[in-house]
Amino acid sequence: MSRNSGKLRVIIAGAGIAGLATAISLARVSTLPDLDIQLYEQASELLEIGASIALSPNGMRTLEKLGVTNALSDEVGFRGPSGIPQIFRHWKTDQVISVDTHTNVPDPRHHTTRFHRGHLHSALLEHVPRQSIHLGKKIINAEITDNGVSLHFEDGTKAYGDILIGADGIKSRVRQSFVPEYKLRFSGKIFMRSTFDASLVEDKIPDLPADSLHWWGPNDNFFASRLGKGQFTTVGAYSDPRTTDELEKSVDWDQKGDVQFLRERYKDWNPLIKALIEVTPYTNLYPNFAGDALPKWVFGSRVTLVGDAAHAHGGAFAAGGSLALDDALALGLAFKHVFQVSATNVLSLDRVKESLYLYTETRKPHTDKLLRIVHTQIGTKTSGFTTAEEEDAKLVARMKNRPDTEWLSEHDVEAALTATIKREESRASIEETVQLESKL
Ligand SMILES: Cc1cc2nc3c(=O)[nH]c(=O)nc-3n(C[C@H](O)[C@H](O)[C@H](O)COP(=O)(O)OP(=O)(O)OC[C@H]3O[C@@H](n4cnc5c(N)ncnc54)[C@H](O)[C@@H]3O)c2cc1C
Repeated sequence: MSRNSGKLRVIIAGAGIAGLATAISLARVSTLPDLDIQLYEQASELLEIGASIALSPNGMRTLEKLGVTNALSDEVGFRGPSGIPQIFRHWKTDQVISVDTHTNVPDPRHHTTRFHRGHLHSALLEHVPRQSIHLGKKIINAEITDNGVSLHFEDGTKAYGDILIGADGIKSRVRQSFVPEYKLRFSGKIFMRSTFDASLVEDKIPDLPADSLHWWGPNDNFFASRLGKGQFTTVGAYSDPRTTDELEKSVDWDQKGDVQFLRERYKDWNPLIKALIEVTPYTNLYPNFAGDALPKWVFGSRVTLVGDAAHAHGGAFAAGGSLALDDALALGLAFKHVFQVSATNVLSLDRVKESLYLYTETRKPHTDKLLRIVHTQIGTKTSGFTTAEEEDAKLVARMKNRPDTEWLSEHDVEAALTATIKREESRASIEETVQLESKL
């Protein structure tokens, strides 16, 4: 593997948010010449599927750094007019109990933005050559060979490359190929999501606030928001006592739900929520899974993971989209750094290994921290109170004492990579000094 021997073949598993952003980052940010980037996606068509997805300032800034400025327009995503990213309301009284605020986000285009996932995906897609995306390619397995990597597809075909990036989502086959014992766990919650034309709510629900709405109840929450391109979303949730195995066999991701069940579930909540569930035309079900932090993200010096494949955090704090974009940018920047400082122009396996090392040292501690918080929360019980007053007091306390998530939402991934580089340089210089002293 060297530039003398031609192009560096990068194969990317999955053409979701992380896969597309990685293709863009490697093509634009890494500054590596002679890249051949190919993406392999199980879907047979690239449709605008999914429901709502939020990007925090870190994700919005990263979109800009990747050159995906089309996604920053007011047309594609929705930003609340108050500039407050999250407003937390009481389920019964509708009273605002607490808010999250932006601390250092001077550009309003970087404020928390809510998209239909399909619109964000389409905005990224505009920057990836269509002929590099191979559809209908369901990955079964990934392998490292003596001089490269390979993906094996359900249709019996294979793809070969020098480097493999696993961007195939929470149920990643690439991750499973290298960490076969890895298990996802059902968090006990199923989300009921719907996106629909905002005309169903505009002028029909009096006093509907202009900002996104986040109500907390004793056990479950309810979320409603305008999205870009004239869409609106509602999101409810319920607890399901089934085990991970039972759930996997019975509820598919994006499966049609029963909107009457949603209405029944939220019938005692405040009148605004009742009006919103009345106009919600359908719900789809999204069972929530999460997994532990992986022991490592680099396999055989040629394979790494990005997005949900690398950190199965189950969508907590609505951070998944932004984390995936930051992973992609960090990977591109890591390659850029290693190849700019290397004395030779040769693309050796050692240089690749060094780039993947820098990438994981920058990203893994950050997402491991998130996973620790997620797993603590999954185990936390919110029921078992003796009186309604006690339950309400606990809820209000929980809302006021939410974990501070600014370290996530305003994370500067470029600065984090620079800090990793500095740390590595000072470690190397200490090692050099120790070696020198031992020779004296
Ligand atoms: C169809 C869909 C709808 C979603 N809707 C929402 C939503 O409404 N709200 C939200 O917050 N999050 C949603 N998500 C998840 C969200 O996009 C991710 O949590 C986040 O953006 C991180 O992106 P990712 O690229 O790592 O994962 P994903 O966005 O899940 O992308 C993974 C990609 O890999 C592909 N893939 C998976 N397995 C294989 C395989 N075996 N072979 C080939 N390709 C494979 C998938 O089809 C997908 O395109 C959705 C994901 C998908 C795939």
